[in-house]
Amino acid sequence: MQESTEEEKKLAIEAGNVEDSFPYITVAVDGGWAKRSYGHSYSSLSGVACIIGQKTQKILYIGVKNKFCYMCATTKREHTCFKNFTGSSASMEQAAIVDGFNQSEKIYGIRYKYVVGDGDSSVYARIQEKVSYGRSVIKLECANHCVRAYTAALHCLIKNRQFQIESRNILKKHVGKISSCTRKVIAKSSDLLNMKMQLKDSFAVVMGNDIKLLEHSPLFLEMEKARDNVIRKADRLLRNVTTNPAERYTYVNSIQIYRW
Ligand SMILES: [Zn+2]
Repeated sequence: MQESTEEEKKLAIEAGNVEDSFPYITVAVDGGWAKRSYGHSYSSLSGVACIIGQKTQKILYIGVKNKFCYMCATTKREHTCFKNFTGSSASMEQAAIVDGFNQSEKIYGIRYKYVVGDGDSSVYARIQEKVSYGRSVIKLECANHCVRAYTAALHCLIKNRQFQIESRNILKKHVGKISSCTRKVIAKSSDLLNMKMQLKDSFAVVMGNDIKLLEHSPLFLEMEKARDNVIRKADRLLRNVTTNPAERYTYVNSIQIYRW
């Protein structure tokens, strides 16, 4: 993990990403994996969090918090104690992530300036509050998550019988293209205003003349609301970052080593 961090640091310096004399990088964070994947009751007694470098897609930090120590529970013998956390189970992963951020500056002289998560704002709040440089950390949205949520919202409208079937059929015809167009705009836009404008125009671009059939319908109003949700996040989508599920596999495997 030290090697990965040095690699990220080198790339940051090469790209001129330095602020307050610290090289800064983009990371993806994830926590709570154990709880999601396993239903075991002990999972609430330990929490795992992971920080991945966006450029290298390598693991920079794995933190484990334990509320429970098997040795403490079963023997009075002296032992290396695994207990390193007291507090609510929900805050365990957050605490592990905060540790990771704090040690980035102290040990490696590097800052995690941009952080990609899958929408959990409580982790971000904790980073801002507890990390030495937390005030300068900026949360980014995962472009894939964002477009997937948008597409799902449009599919909900297609199924909603409140709206006229004719309108819904027009949306149904175009929903795939709206989705891929949105993803492309996020990937290719380099400035904020341009991205916002292209997202705003996406319906007209994709639907062509069909838009005239929809424009004044109640369905179209809802479509615009869904689209504007994406536009509102534009500044956080600008770097086209993603949390890559394939990489999660590596991450999960490496965590196995740390679990006992
Ligand atoms: Zn113990």
